[in-house]
Amino acid sequence: MYDAIVIGAGPAGLQAALTLGRMHRSTLLLDSGEYRNGTVQHMHNVITNDGAAPADFRATARKELAAYADVEIREVGAQNVTGADGDFTIVLTDGDSVEARRVILATGVADDLPAVPGLQQLWGLKAFACPFCDGHEHAGRPIGILGPVARAEHLIGLLGRIVGDITVYPIDERFTAEEAQLLERLGARASTEPVAAVAVHGDGVRISTESGGAQTVAGVFVASGTLRQRAPFADDLALGMLPSGSIEIDDFGRTSLPGIFAAGDLAHRASLPGPLASVLLAAAAGQIAAIGVVQSLMAH
Ligand SMILES: Cc1cc2nc3c(=O)[nH]c(=O)nc-3n(C[C@H](O)[C@H](O)[C@H](O)COP(=O)(O)OP(=O)(O)OC[C@H]3O[C@@H](n4cnc5c(N)ncnc54)[C@H](O)[C@@H]3O)c2cc1C
Repeated sequence: MYDAIVIGAGPAGLQAALTLGRMHRSTLLLDSGEYRNGTVQHMHNVITNDGAAPADFRATARKELAAYADVEIREVGAQNVTGADGDFTIVLTDGDSVEARRVILATGVADDLPAVPGLQQLWGLKAFACPFCDGHEHAGRPIGILGPVARAEHLIGLLGRIVGDITVYPIDERFTAEEAQLLERLGARASTEPVAAVAVHGDGVRISTESGGAQTVAGVFVASGTLRQRAPFADDLALGMLPSGSIEIDDFGRTSLPGIFAAGDLAHRASLPGPLASVLLAAAAGQIAAIGVVQSLMAH
């Protein structure tokens, strides 16, 4: 039996495994290879790694973990988690099953994008959601925002002082006159036509509208994506959830179920309106959950 099994090897799970390994706690790290930033070539706002490739970040983390005898990594998915504090069993997608005293869920979230033709192919390359991660790279250049006014407003507030012209495109239904006026008051242009498709054009993006018009911008920000838990464990284990759809955790990453911890984009404390989704904050949450695990195991 392992002291801990960490499910997920993004920034949260990798850091959790490092902390557990350094504390000589036998740890199994499971990775199904589905990373939220899997299509991203350059991650930003990550001190000492600003602009680095997420794949390089993960490879360096794996190299560092290899120095710790107590950390084992398996490239396999977890299928289900059963048991109780001190005695959990995880069935793996290769049919094997493994046991641990504690479990850290670090399986992240998946982004469900609006059904705009071409958008999925641009995701993480020319289409983004987070101004903190990708705003600066569009400094002074025109951008498009796809989505409803309520969330576009928030993006305009953050991006307005960084980028050049902003055009907001409705999805499916046209903006009302009041919505268009609001966007213009905020300093953005409102497209009269809904977006029909997006595609790479030179080093930018061509946004086509339903009537056949088109505009080329440096990049696109999506204001209408939604997040969902990537793995089913929160549901399976009936963990306490927050209105954001995230797992509720306390200051040490503990979920509502004793022995199950959570870290990264999939979880946050009730004091926040949603997950503060970033590489560094996921890694920090992974470290906190690992500390929580180590403390809870001190008598064992
Ligand atoms: C387009 C885009 C750009 C971004 N750019 C930036 C940026 O520039 N800077 C920044 O700080 N943040 C950025 N982010 C956010 C960042 O990617 C996330 O905050 C971060 O990856 C969250 O880490 P995590 O460990 O919680 O989850 P993830 O990185 O998503 O890792 C989840 C892990 O869980 C594993 N997993 C899932 N299900 C299972 C299962 N059943 N069994 C086993 N393993 C499983 C996956 O394989 C993966 O290893 C960006 C996000 C997106 C979508």
